[in-house]
Amino acid sequence: MRVLVTGGAGFIGSHLSEALLARGDEVLCLDDLSTGREANLELCRAQTGFEFVRGSVLDEALVARCVKRVEGVFHLAARVGVRLVLEQPSATLETNVLGTRHVLAAAARAGARVLFASSSEVYGRNEHPPFAEDDPLLLGATNEPRWSYASSKALGEGLAFAHAREQGLPVVVVRFFNVVGPRQRGSYGMVVPRFVRAALAGEPLEVYGDGAQTRCFLHVADAVAAVLSLWDEPRARGQVVNVGSARELSIQALAECVRAAAASRAPIVHMPYREAYGMAMEDFRRRAPELTRLTGLIGARTIRDLESIVAELVSAGAAQPTSGAQRP
Ligand code: UDP
Repeated sequence: MRVLVTGGAGFIGSHLSEALLARGDEVLCLDDLSTGREANLELCRAQTGFEFVRGSVLDEALVARCVKRVEGVFHLAARVGVRLVLEQPSATLETNVLGTRHVLAAAARAGARVLFASSSEVYGRNEHPPFAEDDPLLLGATNEPRWSYASSKALGEGLAFAHAREQGLPVVVVRFFNVVGPRQRGSYGMVVPRFVRAALAGEPLEVYGDGAQTRCFLHVADAVAAVLSLWDEPRARGQVVNVGSARELSIQALAECVRAAAASRAPIVHMPYREAYGMAMEDFRRRAPELTRLTGLIGARTIRDLESIVAELVSAGAAQPTSGAQRP
């Protein structure tokens, strides 16, 4: 099958593109390299059936030309990362909403089906995990920049289902819960690469707030495997599906796990959100996915545990020429 991966040079997009090529699909990758990187495409470029187009999902004509050439679209291109979102709330809203609109409209015209990458962020202030797909979305005030990301993803989901209803577009929406792994960078937020880099460099691991807030971390290879299974499963069409791990961990425990894996003496320090982000920031105390729908669709899977994920990232970081001291 010939598919388009928007955001294919990004962290999840590049791993997804590799997996698609490995199973014999042809991949057209569209990425503006704003947060994605050429280097992420090294393995894809070595394969036949891969083509890279540099451009933005905001370029409606370009999106239409790309979509016309494929039978399916994995729409991952988006502004992501808490830091980037706080710095660029209007670009976040515009890219994530208008880009999604262009992709969906072009796919409906071309008869291509779509998988839309959404986020657990849309559950917002819900304080009662695990979060199920049909739970209400509790978004905060529109004048707080953090909510621009959740709002943009919720609108993207709404647009996807509107196209499904009005134009018969087959869509699957996945909500990723804290996907981590090789190639993820800490510059735009993302706690795991930040802790790994700090531990290897012997610098403080900065835990924001009291560290009791929880997240569930999923290895990117497991996220990609779930995405491909959902893509292949006709019963997933027309549905929102959580993709994540059930193991909930505090950020303090994560910091301790990373420090132990790196055999590092770097201190774990606590930092107020205002200092960390340069402004007051509402964080989520707990976040965990309800996975009944996912397992009902693709079956139960064994996934990598956090200790082995962290060990992999620590040894990859330590193998870098700068001994992991490189800035994220
Ligand atoms: N966090 C932290 N130190 C960092 C980066 C993030 O303590 O250097 C915290 C952040 O406040 C949040 C959690 O780690 O509670 C996960 O942050 P991330 O930005 O990775 O993901 P998200 O907030 O989107 O779940």
